[in-house]
Amino acid sequence: MTTKSDVLIIGGGPVGLNSAYYLLKAGRRVTILDSNEIGKGSGHGNAGQIVPSHIVPLAAPGVVSSALKWMLDPSLSPFGMKIRLSPAYILWLIQFAAACSEANVTRSIPSMRSLAQLSMTNLLNMLDEERIECRYQQTGIITLFKDEKAFADGKHEAEFLGRHGVPTEILDKAALHECEPIALDDVIGGVHFTGDSFMNPAIFLAELAKRVREMGAEVHENTAVTGFESVSGKITKVRTASGEFEAEHVVLAAGAWSPIVARDLRLKLPIQPARGYSVTVAAPRNMPRHAFILGDRRVAVSPFGELLRFTGRLEVGEYSTTPDPKWLARLEMFVREYIELDEKLDVKDAWAGLRPVTPDGIPAIGRAPGLSNLTVATGHAMVGLSLGPGTGQLVSELVNGQKTAFDLRPLSLDRF
Ligand SMILES: Cc1cc2nc3c(=O)[nH]c(=O)nc-3n(C[C@H](O)[C@H](O)[C@H](O)COP(=O)(O)OP(=O)(O)OC[C@H]3O[C@@H](n4cnc5c(N)ncnc54)[C@H](O)[C@@H]3O)c2cc1C
Repeated sequence: MTTKSDVLIIGGGPVGLNSAYYLLKAGRRVTILDSNEIGKGSGHGNAGQIVPSHIVPLAAPGVVSSALKWMLDPSLSPFGMKIRLSPAYILWLIQFAAACSEANVTRSIPSMRSLAQLSMTNLLNMLDEERIECRYQQTGIITLFKDEKAFADGKHEAEFLGRHGVPTEILDKAALHECEPIALDDVIGGVHFTGDSFMNPAIFLAELAKRVREMGAEVHENTAVTGFESVSGKITKVRTASGEFEAEHVVLAAGAWSPIVARDLRLKLPIQPARGYSVTVAAPRNMPRHAFILGDRRVAVSPFGELLRFTGRLEVGEYSTTPDPKWLARLEMFVREYIELDEKLDVKDAWAGLRPVTPDGIPAIGRAPGLSNLTVATGHAMVGLSLGPGTGQLVSELVNGQKTAFDLRPLSLDRF
């Protein structure tokens, strides 16, 4: 059986759902295929932090040396790496290490900033226009520090980001404890990212999925794309286990799975998964007023009203989404080093998800070279929830052949 559609989106995560939303608003008819349920990929269990402050790409100076240092003590490391003898994986690792440079940061910041700002504006408009209630809070995110050297580095980073228009406020020990009494006494200060915000991502994605269906999207869940047929540089068929689809235009938004989905298409799409975990507990007696990042531990803490979530760990090259109980327990242990928590927590959920990471650490958004009816939007790494609303608008502009909101050449697939 062949189903005909106008725009066919592969993947119903934050990127696919936002793309569907903006395409539908632009008057296109949309079909979404997902191998799972929409909104249940790598987005719903994440930290829910909306971080326009994250304009520095994942591939930045110091990342490789920090990773090597952490690997000397793997039991406490926020970073892990799967050993795999795949040429594509080894090449990706080499390219990532090479991209950890000042030059990559300088090159990436303008596009990351434009995408972050567009996303922030779009998110606020969407929450307002669609009346989406997802525990969205604009109190900002605070990075907490227990160590003088790490705090000094944090202040230095805040100064750097400030020069690029990111609002921050340095909190000394007294100011921090006044605004966050839940912080333990040996937390010596913080950097408050006042323009950041947070929300319950599961509620946001469920609400967005509902709006997209109401706007007319045809959704096929549990429908994995297994291959493509293309003729003269145009995709003519998208194959799934439950039949074939034909579409005027195809959008590939399958996150960390994008290169696997696209293997028939001979695209250069070097993306590796970076697995992370979350533990969600019922609200303890005292809840934080802000979301946090815990300094050296790189753990995120996000309060969602009746729930509190701890998120962390970045395991490059790992495709399994089965959470490792050892790391779930460590997340809680790390959080207890920084904030007061009830002795016994009521765990509601334990989760693992995959961040899609390119070798230069910035997203890949653009028309696919050599295929006239394919747009790719993936590689959002740690910030796909934040950057989804801007990406959705850009995908709609690309599919409709319109001028994009900003110059997308630095994010295009030609760079690979
Ligand atoms: C622990 C953790 C914490 C995070 N915290 C934050 C945060 O606080 N803020 C933030 O902005 N970002 C955060 N992220 C990152 C964010 O979750 C990702 O960047 C985002 O989910 C990527 O969105 P996506 O739509 O590209 O991919 P996904 O969310 O992975 O969605 C891809 C979809 O494609 C589907 N799919 C896969 N294969 C196929 C196939 N063959 N056929 C059809 N469909 C297929 C999947 O089922 C899935 O639904 C976090 C990630 C993790 C893991």
